Amino acid sequence: MYNKLNFSIICSICVLAIASIVFINSNNTENEKTIQTSIDSNFNSTSSLNKLMEGNKKYVDATYNASIIDAKARESLLKNGQKPFAIVLTCSDSRVVPENIFYTGLGDIFVIRVAGNVVDESVIGSIEFGVDSLKIPLILVLGHEDCGAVYNSKSTDIKGSLGKLLNKIAPSYEKAKALGGSESEIIQRATDFNVENSMNIISENKVVKKYINGGVVDVIGGNYSLETGIVRLLN
Ligand SMILES: [Zn+2]
Repeated sequence: MYNKLNFSIICSICVLAIASIVFINSNNTENEKTIQTSIDSNFNSTSSLNKLMEGNKKYVDATYNASIIDAKARESLLKNGQKPFAIVLTCSDSRVVPENIFYTGLGDIFVIRVAGNVVDESVIGSIEFGVDSLKIPLILVLGHEDCGAVYNSKSTDIKGSLGKLLNKIAPSYEKAKALGGSESEIIQRATDFNVENSMNIISENKVVKKYINGGVVDVIGGNYSLETGIVRLLN
């Protein structure tokens, strides 16, 4: 009897363990499917739009991260309005997703994304709105590892609007280059200098400055590691 019972318990444990492994594996497969890489390059505009809309359907049903992105959260935010606690200016890079990086939900952070996290009229206008109308106390400028905009800022043969954008980063690259070091060290310093440059432009803005001087707004800088997922704050 004892042996039989013991055997049953062991069998049950085995079944549970196998079920868990199968469950974890199926979840991993699902996650892998949702990550887009250069290997999967067969999208056209129709299939891309379909993928976005399929994702939106999942989001509407809030099958993950329920309570921070679900129907109740949407309803509450519509009724009560938004009160985000931070402005995050970062790059458009698809691997840098502030809402995910800081584990935030709807209404939490006011995000502005532009290649190379540079500041132009529209960006500063959005920040003015965040600070002046929404009373957001913190502005984080977040650069990141392996930033294509920073890397390409050394190139002088890119013209047009992209060229103008890269020109905003070029002085940071030149400043980093003057300090010497390996190419990867130069890029890393240039990324930080570029963040500092954006921070300076934001801090000098008339509207933002008023709040900084009043002691109610801070502008800080950071760098996101694609490899570790860690945000390092600049000094
Ligand atoms: Zn970037």
